[in-house]
Amino acid sequence: MSTQNEPRTVSPTQLGSYARCPLAYRYRFRERRRSLPSPPSLLGHAMHAAMEDNFRAKRKAHADLTTPELEDTFDRVWDRELPPDGAGARGTPEEFSATRELGYGMLAFFVAEVAPGIRPHLVEHRFRFTMDGIPVPVVGQVDVVDMNGTVIDHKTAGGRYPEDYLDNDLQLFCYSLGYTFVREGMRLREGQMPAARRLSPARVDVIIRSETPEAQQLEKIYNEDDVERIGGKMRRLAAGIFAGEFAAFWMTEEREEGWRTCASCEFGDTCEQNLSLDAG
Ligand code: SF4
Repeated sequence: MSTQNEPRTVSPTQLGSYARCPLAYRYRFRERRRSLPSPPSLLGHAMHAAMEDNFRAKRKAHADLTTPELEDTFDRVWDRELPPDGAGARGTPEEFSATRELGYGMLAFFVAEVAPGIRPHLVEHRFRFTMDGIPVPVVGQVDVVDMNGTVIDHKTAGGRYPEDYLDNDLQLFCYSLGYTFVREGMRLREGQMPAARRLSPARVDVIIRSETPEAQQLEKIYNEDDVERIGGKMRRLAAGIFAGEFAAFWMTEEREEGWRTCASCEFGDTCEQNLSLDAG
């Protein structure tokens, strides 16, 4: 039976949040709890906004913005999201300030090493599709679709991603599927999945947080097994959301070093189920 609380759409962000911890999903999307930034999360947001501005401008003018132009966007987001007195933020003023400096270096690296290789066809393009087994439409927006048809997401991270990251990542899979629905349009009936060979290739560009940033690029061409596996995972996660199952992840799942999930959780400070408090 549907309730007022059930979402009318579901996004890859929501599915990803539920996969990390159903309780964190409940805090964020059901209870609408606000979370305050940590240095890495704020860096991620500010970098993302700057990269988005770059690709929007490049789509029109066919040239990347300059590092100072990107710094303007970066600073605007940073100052807007960090409370002026730092109250409640998940980090000390010194940690935020050191991360901000890292961010300037990462922006310059992005302009020199990452941006020139991308020719944006679509930027922050919205998608919406239905999938058998998920009771509401899946919605979201693709960061960038390159002229060559590859869907690209940009991340910042503290270290390299596992080489098989895209074999299980549902966000990039949704982007690929979403753009394929945009591209194929009317040729697909409601709920029908495109054949794997029709799916757009996906790529994640990771900029690794460091004083000497590095880029890691992972690419994926999906096959039928991927569609089966990642599609199945999406259906299982959506079923949990719609069944209202919001127990902390460690109550139902064995996860190696699970306390690390809690240690980086945006609700760690207020969650009574936080494992990292015991792990010290
Ligand atoms: S602190 Fe741990 S248990 Fe609590 S919401 Fe976050 S990830 Fe889940």
